[in-house]
Amino acid sequence: MTDRLALPGFVNAHSHTFQRALRGRAGGGDFWAWRDEMLLEAERQTPHSVRSNYAAWYREMRTAGYTAIGEFHYLGLQEALAALEAAAEAQIELVILLAAYARGGLPRFRQETPAEFLRQVETLREGGGLVGVAPHSVRACPADWLEEIGAYAAAEGLPLHVHADEQPREIEECLSEHGVRPIELLARTGCLGPATTVVHATHADDVELDLLADVGARVCVCPTTEANLGDGYAPIEALLERGIAICIGSDSNVRIDPLEELRELEGIARRSSGRRNVVPVETLLSFGSTEGASALGLERWPEVSVQLDHASLAGVDPGDVPGALVFGCSAEVLES
Ligand SMILES: [Zn+2]
Repeated sequence: MTDRLALPGFVNAHSHTFQRALRGRAGGGDFWAWRDEMLLEAERQTPHSVRSNYAAWYREMRTAGYTAIGEFHYLGLQEALAALEAAAEAQIELVILLAAYARGGLPRFRQETPAEFLRQVETLREGGGLVGVAPHSVRACPADWLEEIGAYAAAEGLPLHVHADEQPREIEECLSEHGVRPIELLARTGCLGPATTVVHATHADDVELDLLADVGARVCVCPTTEANLGDGYAPIEALLERGIAICIGSDSNVRIDPLEELRELEGIARRSSGRRNVVPVETLLSFGSTEGASALGLERWPEVSVQLDHASLAGVDPGDVPGALVFGCSAEVLES
């Protein structure tokens, strides 16, 4: 028997890589207090720091079995170019999901107009980078921005990623501004389609989930971050019932381990349903790889291999390796 098993590489469909700097030190009593600390860290970033730190953190991701990344990026255009260089150095496939930010956050996140944002997207595309558009959230983008960006993504066939329904406060604010919930607003403004990935959807209601299913949009869940930030539980069973595709992201990079994300994902489903094997293991592995690649518009990305002679897999029957990976191993058994 060979001591290596090849698998499709894991795909990290949602990373804010600079947040890796917060590991172990981000305090705060809730999401919003954590966000204040995160904003301080964002403010410190420069093209130089992104170029050197991201190369190291992309290597960390690559070592953990992620071979492609969706970098949800709101630090500025020069920093986006630096991230692309860092990814090339770390030999990881990178898609820059360039964030549109009209209001809130930090001045460096923001563009003056949707046209300025789209010019930045064009600059990255002309440079040969793989790019998707990312209206940050309904907090950061008003309806007219969403309309313009949604129309551009549809016309150009680009992936569109957007945060939605991570925290109850965002939903309350959206209801009071627009009279509808976040995913309803995305639908109304032309931002929901088969190339759309909604990040989190933690507090999405049935109507919102039906909208996602109707258009074939997908959801990116980030279980270790959502746990760390006190976001809540992704509605895994409700997503599955509707046939909504799911992918994973390391998001704040509190952990960088695709197997742990998948274990948490299934753990959430088990805790909420009182059942076991809610998502079959092979399906979980596809959430961690091919579904993420589809969310990023990638057709090819590198494989990983499993070290079958690793101590964590000792005594495991070959047919049980997929289950052992998800439920009994960390990313240390992976090589890429
Ligand atoms: Zn995010």
